[in-house]
Amino acid sequence: PSPSWVRAISPYVAGKPIEDVARELGLAPETIVKLASNENPLGMPASAREALGRAASDLGRYPDANGFALKEALSKRFGLPMEWITLGNGSNDILELAAHAFLEPGKCAIYSQYSFAVYELATQAVGAKAVVTPAKDYGHDLQAMLAAVTPETHLVFIANPNNPTGTFLPYAEIEHFLRALPRHVVCVLDEAYNEYLPSELRVDTARWVERYPNLLISRTFSKAYGLAGLRVGYGLAQPEVTGLLNRIRQPFNVNSLAQAAAVAALADEAFLAKSYELNRAGLQQIGAALTDLGLQWVPSFGNFILFKVGEDAGAGSRVNQALLKQGVIVRPVGNYGLPQWIRVSIGLPEENMRFVHALRAALA
Ligand code: PMP
Repeated sequence: PSPSWVRAISPYVAGKPIEDVARELGLAPETIVKLASNENPLGMPASAREALGRAASDLGRYPDANGFALKEALSKRFGLPMEWITLGNGSNDILELAAHAFLEPGKCAIYSQYSFAVYELATQAVGAKAVVTPAKDYGHDLQAMLAAVTPETHLVFIANPNNPTGTFLPYAEIEHFLRALPRHVVCVLDEAYNEYLPSELRVDTARWVERYPNLLISRTFSKAYGLAGLRVGYGLAQPEVTGLLNRIRQPFNVNSLAQAAAVAALADEAFLAKSYELNRAGLQQIGAALTDLGLQWVPSFGNFILFKVGEDAGAGSRVNQALLKQGVIVRPVGNYGLPQWIRVSIGLPEENMRFVHALRAALA
């Protein structure tokens, strides 16, 4: 029999696939709008597509187990040695590696209420105890997280910006937290949505890993870089942490196609700028529409917005079903303890419009 903590896990609920909804409605997949998984509405950059074409000619060989080209490019980008970088099969892989490297039964991980679901899954999977601190204004309460640290605490997960709420913690507050955090606790700073931050808010957090030996920053190519289907992310940390992650990661955890596409996407500044601009405009468009509908919503620093429907908004709810019937897939967040809320990802302007019209009809 499997350990009790494995049997206790509720599996991750992913966004409903376009094909499923198209089949159910008897419609062509192109007519469905999926705003459920915080994907990039521009899709994959053309530069990455070209790189994939080249890489596809040599798939009979194993990938580069050390991801040299991608690590070299990241190393140049962040001014950190290559040994400070760990590649992951998506950044979920980095989160999971951190749990495996630092947790075990009897030890604890701290994370906030309403933070990313994988923190719970990764903690449960290794039989460690989850300490969930109450949210503050839908985001992290760093004071409460610090106060929850005990000798058994080995890991703290912080998402900035946070998913599913979109909240952002000012960097001064995180630095204050890192300075106060005891050395025996590793802080995973999950920056999956970092590239969507306006430049005036962003600081070079990659520099922080030089200062804090117990900091692991996690980033991804799934969002602003548009490569969610390829599964590639990375971690930045001092070699002591990286060395541990490397011991337990699978040798070929990032495949050849993903490595090649990520190198191309990282160099494609025009694509990143376009993703950013499109997202800013979309946040405004959807935010304004939600206000117009009289709905409460949380100002977002990611590529999605969380809003309150004011009645049950779960998968089977009247509102969610009405959206699905109109071919619009959003993300119910009842599993996050927010049963009356829905998270909608920012799409192309016309997709955002489809969503707004569908929501208006669903609420009528
Ligand atoms: N962290 C956060 C906060 C996320 O929202 C996501 C994606 N939903 C991830 C990590 C993982 O993304 P990926 O594994 O695609 O890099």
